[in-house]
Amino acid sequence: MTLTADEEVTASGALGRTPCLVIDVEVAGEQYRRIAAAFAGAQIHYAVKANPEPALLRALVEAGCRFDVASRAEIDLCLAAGASPAALSYGHPIKKPGDIAYAYARGVRLFAFDSEGELGKIVAHAPGSGVICRLLASSQGARWPLSRKFGCTPDMAIDLMKSAARQGLDPAGLAFHVGSQQLDPGRWEPSVALAADIFRTLEQSGHRPRILNAGGGFPVDYRVSALPITAYAAAIEAAMSRHFGRDRPALMIEPGRYIAAPAGVLHAEVVLIARKSYEDESRWVYLDVGRFGGLAETEDEAIQYALATTRDDGPMGPVILAGPTCDSVDIMYQHAHYELPLSLKAGDVVRILGTGAYTATYASVGFNGFPPLRTQIT
Ligand SMILES: *Cc1c(COP(=O)(O)O)cnc(C)c1O
Repeated sequence: MTLTADEEVTASGALGRTPCLVIDVEVAGEQYRRIAAAFAGAQIHYAVKANPEPALLRALVEAGCRFDVASRAEIDLCLAAGASPAALSYGHPIKKPGDIAYAYARGVRLFAFDSEGELGKIVAHAPGSGVICRLLASSQGARWPLSRKFGCTPDMAIDLMKSAARQGLDPAGLAFHVGSQQLDPGRWEPSVALAADIFRTLEQSGHRPRILNAGGGFPVDYRVSALPITAYAAAIEAAMSRHFGRDRPALMIEPGRYIAAPAGVLHAEVVLIARKSYEDESRWVYLDVGRFGGLAETEDEAIQYALATTRDDGPMGPVILAGPTCDSVDIMYQHAHYELPLSLKAGDVVRILGTGAYTATYASVGFNGFPPLRTQIT
């Protein structure tokens, strides 16, 4: 997006118009290096849907990152950012035939699937490609769980992998995803164990899949801190050793949130501070950004961002935090016991921290006339 002069970040770091998501791509690069160091030897594919900002993708290409894409547009963005098609994995198990053909024409050779119908499309439109079968996995323990929308059972995965080989594809491996902002390092092990069983069964019939894609889900610090990434890497490493022994497949992971979230700060303006009764201690703080403007993950108060203002050294008091639209679900935090400075005023900026993932891409097009979230690179 092009900005007019008065909207650009000034030398002092002040912003023009809010709301605005300010991205520091160097932080994303550091997060990539941190997770790559923790998972030494693994292939790291950044899940582009977390934040497809071109400058961020370019920084990740430079750092040596690979990419997990789910659409034509994401393929184009990665290639435009300088990624090699060999570094892309089409991780979405549900694709239109035309999208598979498009990816294949651009050099993508690794595709996810979880059904016979999808396999048929890949055979027809991406002949000879590598395929990764997605297994059902539990998202128990995840702050942003995934439903049973994707993945198949182990018996079906075995049949599908054999079918892939019969149809001239390369049955490259298995994938699973334990839900996003997964706080429990132990949640990967059950799927690693399941995958090891399937690998052994396939080897008995002469197939040698070689990749285990342990998906994304790696958590970041929000209002509550997560364990360091090394805790998740150690748990997965231990599970790999326990269940595969020395005959280990290559590990692939697809972090989205872990790389993008800490790179973003959403600057919002306080539109109004109000009380609903003389007895109620809580103030309602209405911001110019809310559920429809990028804070979709505040649904059920699931993701609880840390907030910062310039008045944080003074006394604090309880608030209910709401967005700008007339929709009554446009409330971010009502039960999560948020506090903001008692001296906070309309017109002040509230910085919503760790908002680099699943915000700008989750903003509605213009619900109630509020434009989608603007992004700016520092
Ligand atoms: C969204 C997604 C990811 C990224 O998940 P995070 O929780 O952001 O790490 C990884 N893999 C697939 C297939 C996804 O759909």
